[in-house]
Amino acid sequence: MRPNPQFFRVAIDTPLRRLFDYLPPALPESATGPKPGMRVRVPFGRRRLVGVVMAVSDTSDLPAERLRPILEVLDGTPALDASALELIQWAAEYYHHPVGQVLASALPRLMRLGASVVATEERWTLTGGGLAAAAAGEPRRAAKQRALLDFLVSTGGAAAAGSLSEHSVGWRDAARSLEKRGFLARAEVALVEVAEPARVRAAGPTLLPEQRDAVERVGQASRAYAAFLLEGVTGSGKTEVYLRLTEEALAQRRAVLVLVPEIGLTPQLVGRFRERFAAPLAVLHSALTDQERLAAWRAAWSGQARIVLGTRSAVFAPLPDLGLIVVDEEHDASFKQHEGALRYSARDLAVVRARLARVPVVLGSATPSLETLNNVASGRYTRLRLLRRTGESQPPRLALIDLRETTVEAGISTPATLAMERHLAADGQVLVFLNRRGYAPTLLCTACGWIAPCRECDARLTVHLAAARLRCHHCGADAPLPARCLQCGFAVKPVGQGTERIEAALATRFPHLPIVRLDRDVVRRRGDLAEVVRRMASGEARILVGTQMVTKGHDFPNVTLVVVLNADQGLFSTDFRAPERLAQTIVQVAGRAGRGPKPGEVLIQTEFPQHPLLMSLLERGYDGFAEAALAERLQASWPPFSRLAALRASGKTRDTALGFLSEARAAAGTTPRGLKLLGPVPAAMAKRAGRYHAQLLIESHERRPLHQFLDAWLPRVEAQKSAQRVRWALDVDPLELF
Ligand code: ADP
Ligand code: ZN
Ligand code: ZN
Repeated sequence: MRPNPQFFRVAIDTPLRRLFDYLPPALPESATGPKPGMRVRVPFGRRRLVGVVMAVSDTSDLPAERLRPILEVLDGTPALDASALELIQWAAEYYHHPVGQVLASALPRLMRLGASVVATEERWTLTGGGLAAAAAGEPRRAAKQRALLDFLVSTGGAAAAGSLSEHSVGWRDAARSLEKRGFLARAEVALVEVAEPARVRAAGPTLLPEQRDAVERVGQASRAYAAFLLEGVTGSGKTEVYLRLTEEALAQRRAVLVLVPEIGLTPQLVGRFRERFAAPLAVLHSALTDQERLAAWRAAWSGQARIVLGTRSAVFAPLPDLGLIVVDEEHDASFKQHEGALRYSARDLAVVRARLARVPVVLGSATPSLETLNNVASGRYTRLRLLRRTGESQPPRLALIDLRETTVEAGISTPATLAMERHLAADGQVLVFLNRRGYAPTLLCTACGWIAPCRECDARLTVHLAAARLRCHHCGADAPLPARCLQCGFAVKPVGQGTERIEAALATRFPHLPIVRLDRDVVRRRGDLAEVVRRMASGEARILVGTQMVTKGHDFPNVTLVVVLNADQGLFSTDFRAPERLAQTIVQVAGRAGRGPKPGEVLIQTEFPQHPLLMSLLERGYDGFAEAALAERLQASWPPFSRLAALRASGKTRDTALGFLSEARAAAGTTPRGLKLLGPVPAAMAKRAGRYHAQLLIESHERRPLHQFLDAWLPRVEAQKSAQRVRWALDVDPLELF
């Protein structure tokens, strides 16, 4: 009898918002029991699942007779250390998500299936019997087996599967036979990798005074939590500051976590870290295979990789001795997971992680989010500014082109065309930005007015001319491009512009100049992005046409002109964040001009040159815009001056989605003071991928009452019968309101 029965509180990947108690596993006397952070295999109903021990307790709500023991302990050392568990617990509470499912978002899939966190290798060892057999020249009739025994004797009695394979091709059958006879033993043993000390491969440039100041200010906080906004336009030297801070952390034998919006789009940043440090670096992003992800996770967990660079989910990466967190392009919306189960902001979690781990966190951006700027204003974050561009480059000149007052051909105005001619003649490169891929957003019948619709969405199909397809950019529907109207048989024509069409129009206008395009259609295949970047960077291509993708991380020093074809999407949106996103995009695209010694020019085509947003941006820059936008948010009491959560639902019909949300609203009863429920309303694009979407917003002045309300309300929402008929999710701090 154990004097103190212990109960293990285990998180399991189920929708249930609780932990599950288990009894200790049957272990030999000497073995120590599971500890928090270790993975265990447990019986769950009729299944056996892998869970994580969150806590060990002396009590359980259930009588011990009703509990079952843990079947197996999968980790010798916790897969998740105390600070990782703390972060996961925090995320579960803040996002009101079952902790087992938060873990599922945090752990690589193979780890959830039970893969060892320690890299192992298969080893074969001679037994005493095997040694005697080898000495006696046995087994006489099996040459392969005899050769294998001899080889193992020559290696000192044991060898890894890898070297056995190098030695002979068919060794495995021989080894199995020898194992059956008791001559050999097989085992999975932990690979002990010695963490190499991190070295600086190449020294960086002498820092500019502002950079030095930034490095010093962050450095002073090195063993305490502090949050910094590192603000500076592209090319102002932010990355150099990250590199220098990383160097200092590595020198103190501490690890660094760098979060970026999209790895595929920022190969240059990864390259800069690899060039600078001879330290093992783990890269974590969504395009990895399960094996690659496991390998990167193991490298981080074991302390082998001292630098972890990754997208969103890398915020959960295990990093013993974490010393610094960097979030590059902190304003980028891809830090927000806005689909699937756990909807979290990796940027916000990075700040929480820094606080829990007591380390500094640096948020870098040329166009900080209004949330972050508000945190600066309230004194929670310290602002560090890099005002000048490094080198000789000058900030570009911005001007608006009034589309109502000029001739426009294929989406490009006469003044824009003239400017392009001028810059190209002066050997500059030109970047043309349009946030819409495909050839044209609409296929129209000139006789009856039919417009090719998506059957699954409230949306039009986009014409992809080169591929001769009609595609839906919302659900992926894909159909042949019809030659005639499907309704009346008359001729159809593409209406409006996409990047593919702009590329074609420019090829006609500048027939002798090489043009490249950068959008998701082009970079589907790996390597294509690198090729486009190479052709632009080498100067071989003269014009680049692209979507949002062109704003990320590439440095084309010879681009002297940027043309923004359409600034007007986003000026009149129902989403209160649309202006912020538009301003960020314009500033980011504009930042691509004049990165080299030649001055840059930015032309923005619009039908609303008097729009206050565009005017504040042009006259007072991003700062001026942000100030005006924050004042508007305060007045309307939108975030960051209030807290939002969205209950989202989709169903087979409009009524199932709305019905579920109406019932949820009723279940809220009288809402507490300071809290408002708005809706439910159908989403702006109600039908998407064949399902109807709707949302109910919860707005609160303060954070605490919102979370108290959600805690009490969600179990009731979950229990609704109508919840069975919809897919629903709670989105705390939603970034996009549809
Ligand atoms: P950002 O990350 O803000 O875009 P980078 O750190 O990439 O800026 O700097 C832009 C360019 O200037 C890079 O080529 C970088 O190597 C160079 N650079 C940065 N800091 C310095 C410095 N102190 N002295 C000289 N060159 C620098
Ligand atoms: Zn027609
Ligand atoms: Zn669709």
